[in-house]
Amino acid sequence: MSALTRTWLLLALAPVALTAERFESGEPVMGTVARITLYASSAGEARAGFAAAFDRIRALDAELSDYRPDSELMRLCRRAGEAVKVSDDLFRVLQDAQRVARDTNGAFDVTLGPLVRLWRRTRLKGRLPAPAEIARARGLCGYRRMTLDGRRRTVRLESKGMLLDLGGIAKGYAAAEALGVLHARGLGRALVAIGGDLALGDAPPEKPGWRVEIEHLGKVMELANVCVSTSGDAVQFVEIGGVRYSHILDPRTGVGVRNQKAVTVIAPEGAIADALATAISVAGEGLVDRYAGARVAR
Ligand code: ADP
Ligand code: MG
Repeated sequence: MSALTRTWLLLALAPVALTAERFESGEPVMGTVARITLYASSAGEARAGFAAAFDRIRALDAELSDYRPDSELMRLCRRAGEAVKVSDDLFRVLQDAQRVARDTNGAFDVTLGPLVRLWRRTRLKGRLPAPAEIARARGLCGYRRMTLDGRRRTVRLESKGMLLDLGGIAKGYAAAEALGVLHARGLGRALVAIGGDLALGDAPPEKPGWRVEIEHLGKVMELANVCVSTSGDAVQFVEIGGVRYSHILDPRTGVGVRNQKAVTVIAPEGAIADALATAISVAGEGLVDRYAGARVAR
């Protein structure tokens, strides 16, 4: 390229870079708030990006929610015993979930739905469930009782009464998917946060990365093109008899993890970052080494 062409190119590109403006938008979804920050060259472009990204998040909520009786997830739960063909999204999330379940010997387990429901009632009442109630719910749990067939893209739950709960993995997946939607529209300089699950795209103009405040570490990190998930009981916990229990369950006891410490995981994939942050609260940090590119923030 001649010097002249190069100068010309620079002149042509400069205005675009200079006029990229920062836009922000938020929406309640998945039991929390989804926030998107992005750089675009016009308000119209930003608006169209927000609409597409929030559409994707809402569509995923409709597929993956355990609060909506009509979600794809809940329809799957009602068909225990059958091999049910599922959407690409649901299959991918369940595949990642089963991987983390195997690696943690079931400390992370999306089939804990019956226990999670029981624990939600406990948190409302402020009283621990009776051992018999825990035993009954636990009898309906266990990731080994869910079978995935990758060739047919089917999922089979072994017995009636099984209940899936993607609360520990779906937000990270959705954040990364929304970022993918923005990227495909040329809006790659973006950050999507769904509660404590973040997907970061290319850095803001002239910055090395997005400033991510990690409160429990008292620290700010500058990161780009990576996902960041935090699990902690700062918001969701219950105190019974002087013990603080998390909303993350230890399947061995059937009740919330005690005195949980907050943990932040940085990983290339949103679903994996989210699942690992939840899993570490139960199983410890050792497992992170098995996931390429994943690490615990310190
Ligand atoms: P948050 O939902 O606050 O972002 P997490 O990502 O850690 O926090 O997910 C916690 C949720 O995961 C719980 O509310 C519950 O729905 C589900 N869950 C609880 N215990 C487990 C577990 N051991 N394995 C998988 N999912 C769990
Ligand atoms: Mg999680």
